[in-house]
Amino acid sequence: MISNRQLFLQHVAQTSDAPLSLELERADGVYLFDKSGKKYLDLISGISVSALGHCNPIVVKAVEEQLKHYMHLMVYGEYILSPQVKLAKRLCEVLPKNLNNVYFTNSGTEAVEGAMKLAKRFTGRTELVAFKKAYHGSTQGALSLIGSEDMKRAFRPLLPDTKSLRFNNTDDLSEITTQTAAVICEVVQGEAGVIVADANFLTSLRKRCDETDTLLIFDEVQTGYGRTGKLFAFEHYGIVPDILLLAKSFGGGLPLGAFISSEEIMSSLKTNPVLGHITTFGGNPVCCAAGLATLNALLDKGLINQVAAKERIFKQLLVHPKIKIFRSKGLLMALELDSFEANKKLIDFCIENGVITDWFLFASNCMRIAPPLIITEEEIRYSCSIILKGLDK
Ligand code: PMP
Repeated sequence: MISNRQLFLQHVAQTSDAPLSLELERADGVYLFDKSGKKYLDLISGISVSALGHCNPIVVKAVEEQLKHYMHLMVYGEYILSPQVKLAKRLCEVLPKNLNNVYFTNSGTEAVEGAMKLAKRFTGRTELVAFKKAYHGSTQGALSLIGSEDMKRAFRPLLPDTKSLRFNNTDDLSEITTQTAAVICEVVQGEAGVIVADANFLTSLRKRCDETDTLLIFDEVQTGYGRTGKLFAFEHYGIVPDILLLAKSFGGGLPLGAFISSEEIMSSLKTNPVLGHITTFGGNPVCCAAGLATLNALLDKGLINQVAAKERIFKQLLVHPKIKIFRSKGLLMALELDSFEANKKLIDFCIENGVITDWFLFASNCMRIAPPLIITEEEIRYSCSIILKGLDK
């Protein structure tokens, strides 16, 4: 009989010659289980998604409850859907006052696209500024803003009127002018291999945006919902954006994103044209129910307060001559090795030995460690022992 693996390679579109090809049957907490019953400790949370672990009972229960009422009813923005309303209200309670209006999307990329349109529409300007080695998504608008020519070249022409500045370089900020609609910035550059913004840089960026009436967009698709040890990474700096982007862990394992701004800015999507941004499934009620359960659990369980201590344990344990640098912000961590080849060998060893890690899109010599926030000290110690064993080899 033809195997699922063969069918996967034949009929599911492939985007590389080397997919991980693990065939998993079940996931629970920090563990994934394959068909043979082999257990894998997930150190990457499906790329920063499963903050509360896989199939967290709180999230599953919220989804089941919502399924009893309704799934899709209507395209975005027409009906009053209680899971959307409750999630938007709860989010606005925990966000700074100016972030009081939520547009729900299906993904991070779509949140980026919506924010780009919103900034252009509100300011009447066209220029968009981003940073080198930033990742914001794969559709053509978001792709225009990512900081990697290798990813863009084959798809040009992309959006005109974009600029790419050096991250953490205050000199470049003079390139932001009264022509600039918005600057999009990750507070911690994830795919660059966990490059943390300097406080001085973010302060100068906020100041320059204020001087030029440019909107500041923080892309917290990867850093939001507790990953860095605060609910949102910008809270470490006390700098508030004009537009905030969320996705990944936002839906508790279901597809959900958002761009969040003030009611004043957001209302520009109502006119010229009416329906300035449209989505059929954005803010799907089942996904919003999962997102609300996740947010409440993150806030109730004190998990976010434990992130810094868990980060410290990783940092203390992961010391080895082959590790060049350990970079981290909370439970978003990068182990820098000599080369991609060394990293790939280590990743393969870890997976072989039941610990799942990965590299970063723009830092292939760095190992990604971003476990579910629920990971225990014992699980941290175990996973680090496997990584160290691999490094010894
Ligand atoms: N922004 C950032 C910072 C991301 O890390 C990602 C995904 N890696 C995206 C946007 C795009 O999100 P999605 O894949 O959900 O479209």
